[in-house]
Amino acid sequence: MKKVYANERLCMGCGLCEVYCLVAHSSSKDVVKAYLKERPKPVSRIRKEVHRSLSFAVQCRHCDEAPCVEACLTGAMNVDEKSGAVTHDPERCVECLTCVMVCPAGAIKVDRKLGVVAKCDLCATSGSPVCVEKCPNQALVYAEAPP
Ligand code: SF4
Repeated sequence: MKKVYANERLCMGCGLCEVYCLVAHSSSKDVVKAYLKERPKPVSRIRKEVHRSLSFAVQCRHCDEAPCVEACLTGAMNVDEKSGAVTHDPERCVECLTCVMVCPAGAIKVDRKLGVVAKCDLCATSGSPVCVEKCPNQALVYAEAPP
């Protein structure tokens, strides 16, 4: 299946992937409203990691044998049979954070204040991950295999 792969050699650490992911997962789809007005505040499902001169983006790897799916007590984490993507159903989620603890990539985001668990959905509704589209340096690619 196609996944998002990060290339740390090209990442500038600008954080635009985080910004556009948050906006894509907002109700308004407007950057100003999403950051300043929407409550609860939308959650970006990608985060940039920066350590000195190294930076790269981290999001769900949609593992073939996903530990979060195995560990989820309620079946909120699942694998979409058609696409193979790991999905999260907030309706079934009890926010026990087991998925957060077992994720080998540290890619499941949690906002304790809002009681929200959120992960990359590959922008399932648009069919094309916005983080890849908006990365100004092609540090993210959406491909069948790592480039
Ligand atoms: S938008 Fe691209 S270059 Fe900027 S932090 Fe994200 S991955 Fe790195």
